[in-house]
Amino acid sequence: DLVKDEDLEIITDLGAGNGGTVTKVWNKKRNCVMARKLILVDAKPSVRKQILRELQIMNDCNSPYIVGYYGCFPVDVHVGIVLELMDAGSLNDIYRHIGPIPIEVVGKVAEAVLHGLMYLYDVHRIIHRDIKPSNILANTNGEIKICDFGVSGELINSIANTFVGTSTYMSPERIQGAPYTIKSDVWSLGISLIELALGRFPFTDSQGNEEEEEEESDHEEFDEDATLPLSTQRPKLPVPSSSDNKKEKRKSKGVSLAGGGHTMSILDLLQHIVNEPAPKLVSKRRTYPVEATTFVQDCLYKDPNDRKSPQELLASDWISKSKVTQDDLKTWALSTIQKD
Ligand code: ADP
Ligand code: MG
Repeated sequence: DLVKDEDLEIITDLGAGNGGTVTKVWNKKRNCVMARKLILVDAKPSVRKQILRELQIMNDCNSPYIVGYYGCFPVDVHVGIVLELMDAGSLNDIYRHIGPIPIEVVGKVAEAVLHGLMYLYDVHRIIHRDIKPSNILANTNGEIKICDFGVSGELINSIANTFVGTSTYMSPERIQGAPYTIKSDVWSLGISLIELALGRFPFTDSQGNEEEEEEESDHEEFDEDATLPLSTQRPKLPVPSSSDNKKEKRKSKGVSLAGGGHTMSILDLLQHIVNEPAPKLVSKRRTYPVEATTFVQDCLYKDPNDRKSPQELLASDWISKSKVTQDDLKTWALSTIQKD
C-alpha cells in the first residue's frame, strides 16, 4: 500500500537542492519516520499526471543499494515523493560537516554506487544521470544507497524548465552533446569519489598549483554556491591568469568550486572538463593506496570507450580486496552524526 500525504506529520527539514526540499516526516499509519521530498513542478495537469505515472517505476526498484520508495502524490504546485529516511544523510552533508571521508569508506561508497547503477541498468534499463555526493545517502545501519535517478523523463523536463542543473559532475562527452550512457555515470562517480576523499570539489581554477593545495579546513569553506542553479550565474569570458586576476575572481560572481575561495564560472568549468586532463586522486597532505588512485583513473578516462564499465570496476582490486565490513560502516556512520 502506498503512502499518502495525509499520513505524514512534518518533523524537521533535511535539506534543499535543485527544485526540491526534503523533510523528515512521521508516518502516523505505519509508526515510523520517512523522508518526504517536494519538487516544484511547473507543468500543466496532464503533464503532472504523466510524471506521477512515470514515478511508479520506483515501486519496482528494490535493491539494497537504492533508497526505498513508498509513494508519490500531488501537493498543490509540487510533486511529493516519499522515500526511506537515510539517517546519516548524504555523503555531501557528511564530508562538509566532518571533512574528508576515510579512503576505505570511499571504497565502500564506490562499491555501493556501482551495484546500484548496475541494478538500475540491468533490471530496469535506467541510467542514473545525476550521480553526485548529495545523491549518495548513508544510514546508521552501515548501508550506502543512491537516490534521485532519472525515472521520469517528464519530471526531468519540468525541472529543467525552471532550473538548469549545475552540470558540474557531467562527463566531457555529455558536455559535448553525446547522449547519456552508463559510462557518463561512471565519470560522475569518479569525480564524486575524489571530492569525498579530498573533502573538496576536485576542479579549481588553479588545478595542480602547489600552493593552492587543499587544507584540512577546506570543507568549512566549501561554498554553497556550487549548487546554485545555472540561471543565476553569470558566465565570464576566459581571461589570462595572473595574481590580480585571481583576486578579482575571488570577488566575482563565479561559482566557488573549491575551498580557499577559488572560483570558476560554470562556463569555465565546462570548458575545463572538456579541454584539460581529468582530475586525479592526489593530495599533498595524504597518500592514497595505488588501488584507489588506479580505480579513480579508470573512472575518469575522457574517452568513454577507454573508461571502465561498472562490472569491470567492481572486479578491481580496490573493491574486491576491501576488508571493510558493514559493521565498520555502521561505526563510521554513527561517528559522523555524533560529532554534532
Ligand atoms: P540535492 O540532491 O541537489 O542536494 P535534493 O532535493 O535531492 O537536492 O536533496 C536535498 C538534501 O536532502 C540532500 O542533500 C540530502 O541531504 C537530503 N536528503 C534527500 N533525500 C534524503 C533521504 N531519503 N534521507 C535523508 N536525507 C535526504
Ligand atoms: Mg538529490
